[in-house]
Amino acid sequence: MNDREKLLAEAGINTRLSHIGNDPADFHGFVNPPVVHASTVLFPNARTMETRGQKYSYGTRGTPTTDALCDAINELEGSAGTILVPSGLAAVSVPFLSFLAAGDHVLVVDSVYFPTRNFCDTMLTRLGVTVEYYDPMIGAGIEALIRPNTRLVHTEAPGSNTFEMQDIAAISAVAHQHGCIVMMDNTWATPVFFRPLDFGVDISIHAATKYPSGHSDVLLGTVSANAAHWQQLWDGNFAMGICGSPDDSYQILRGLRTMGVRLERHQESALAIAQWLEGRDDVARVLHPALPSFPGHEIWKRDFKGASGIFSFVLDVRSPEKFKAKAHAFLDALSYFGLGYSWGGFESLAVHVNLADRTISKAPAEGPVIRLQIGLEDVADLRKDLERGFAAAAAV
Ligand SMILES: *Cc1c(COP(=O)(O)O)cnc(C)c1O
Repeated sequence: MNDREKLLAEAGINTRLSHIGNDPADFHGFVNPPVVHASTVLFPNARTMETRGQKYSYGTRGTPTTDALCDAINELEGSAGTILVPSGLAAVSVPFLSFLAAGDHVLVVDSVYFPTRNFCDTMLTRLGVTVEYYDPMIGAGIEALIRPNTRLVHTEAPGSNTFEMQDIAAISAVAHQHGCIVMMDNTWATPVFFRPLDFGVDISIHAATKYPSGHSDVLLGTVSANAAHWQQLWDGNFAMGICGSPDDSYQILRGLRTMGVRLERHQESALAIAQWLEGRDDVARVLHPALPSFPGHEIWKRDFKGASGIFSFVLDVRSPEKFKAKAHAFLDALSYFGLGYSWGGFESLAVHVNLADRTISKAPAEGPVIRLQIGLEDVADLRKDLERGFAAAAAV
């Protein structure tokens, strides 16, 4: 560590987000790193070429642009190394493929991001890996599911769409006793609000597409490993030839600079709306880990430093034959909330969640689940928009 790095290591999160990654002194003082487009890198002589005896050797193996982002992520995650991949989904599939082999058994949380489940049920299964889903609330009880060939435990907290919390430290401790690798999809919290490696996780995953991007215009995934797992992750990724593009890497580093202040606003607005929803008669439940009423709230309070801007609520409908019609009426009446997938951008989004894939954490019985991504708009306007949705749903 040089003096600047030492100073930064002790600084607050927004100071670190402003200064981690590239050092302007390395490139003529320009504040941002250069966007290096590269395949070939030249060597000064045959000996250096033979030994790859210089920092950069080929575009797929990193450039000053991708290094700047990887260094920033390592600093945030406390990881030994980070790889960049073209999407958040690839950030899940690449480590699975890097660490698993035919005959292995893998435990995946039932409230997992649906495309992760699809990858497990199709490609992983086809390659001879046995996939088993477990209850997000299982905690140390996961021990009962570990078999002699269990190689990896995949966690995601809060869970996708229904936001179940997981006791990551307890799961990691038990998994490690049995020689399993622990992976966590930490997209919801970002390393600003939760640092998986501090809780025993070996591999931390992010869809940088979400909050690090912040503007709904970039796809990128990051996978960060502790020292014990870094080499195998790097080797697996290198074998597959996957890498992040220089332009996307640049945009994500740019997004990190403002991510702390954006998250503060997402957190505050989402909590205000969640509390307001909780007080309404037409809402059965609000699924937000920062609400004391939410099962798992105690874990969130114990382990997380904050909450981001995405949560769900259950519309109080009761008659299942009306779930879909009321959910659609609600969504169709919204103006500021766009109907779209993904989240983490500056604009609010709403979606009627499909939980048909769940085998353990099943869909609530009271009504349809509507997921809200609270953007950077003014809360009063968002509330008015949601009120139009409730009125439309009531009229069905
Ligand atoms: C969005 C998301 C991903 C995938 O990110 P993409 O870049 O859209 O592929 C992975 N995990 C979680 C939890 C997500 O929400």
